[in-house]
Amino acid sequence: MAAPVLSARSLYRFFRAGEEETFALQGVGLEVERGETVAVTGPSGSGKTTLLNCLAGLDEPDGGTVHVAGERISHRSERERGGIRARHIGVLFQTANLLDHLSVRDNIALVQRLATAPAATRTPPLELLERVGLTQRAGALPRQLSGGEAARAGLAVALANAPDVLLADEPTGEVDGETERRLLVLLRERAAAGTAVVVVTHSRAVAGAADRVLRLRDGRWT
Ligand code: ADP
Ligand code: MG
Repeated sequence: MAAPVLSARSLYRFFRAGEEETFALQGVGLEVERGETVAVTGPSGSGKTTLLNCLAGLDEPDGGTVHVAGERISHRSERERGGIRARHIGVLFQTANLLDHLSVRDNIALVQRLATAPAATRTPPLELLERVGLTQRAGALPRQLSGGEAARAGLAVALANAPDVLLADEPTGEVDGETERRLLVLLRERAAAGTAVVVVTHSRAVAGAADRVLRLRDGRWT
């Protein structure tokens, strides 16, 4: 069997604020195959975002390791993690992936340049925007978009490099039902094309479309 394209072993993450210690992740493991969609659910504060941040190399676990497409992304410099992320991972967080001063089209072009993929293999930004139904908004700045449009623009950015792994944190949290259905279709298409998808969600529709649903509680799988 092929090695999982995303593999996390025994992740631990602690936060200390003054006297108080929070154990956000307490030995979490996860393996996801190409083409597989895993939904992660769990109450607020259970460690979902912390887990995605560690998988994306946006945060460093205090213990454990993360491998993406055969490369270790944990316990490396921020610069190295950024490079691995740009080559292999699409990140769709509620706020994080659109730069305010760039148009939607230029946000896509920027992440494509960062990935250093050969120009010939890149999907043109306008084609990506057409797929998410945003052709008309290519020149708009992020703050000029509605919530649903911003979610779709974020997805176009996350998919810009046809990533090996797509990590999404409540991507449909603030969108209407129609937009949610559209995002789901795109996620399924991406998975069918071989991307491993991990999606944190409270939505039944999203969890229902996943191959596996995992639940976190107090930093552990339940
Ligand atoms: P979820 O996404 O499931 O709501 P989080 O991963 O955001 O949960 O948070 C898990 C726990 O870790 C919470 O108790 C939260 O308060 C704490 N936490 C997360 N990030 C930080 C941080 N940067 N500093 C301190 N505590 C944090
Ligand atoms: Mg969260």
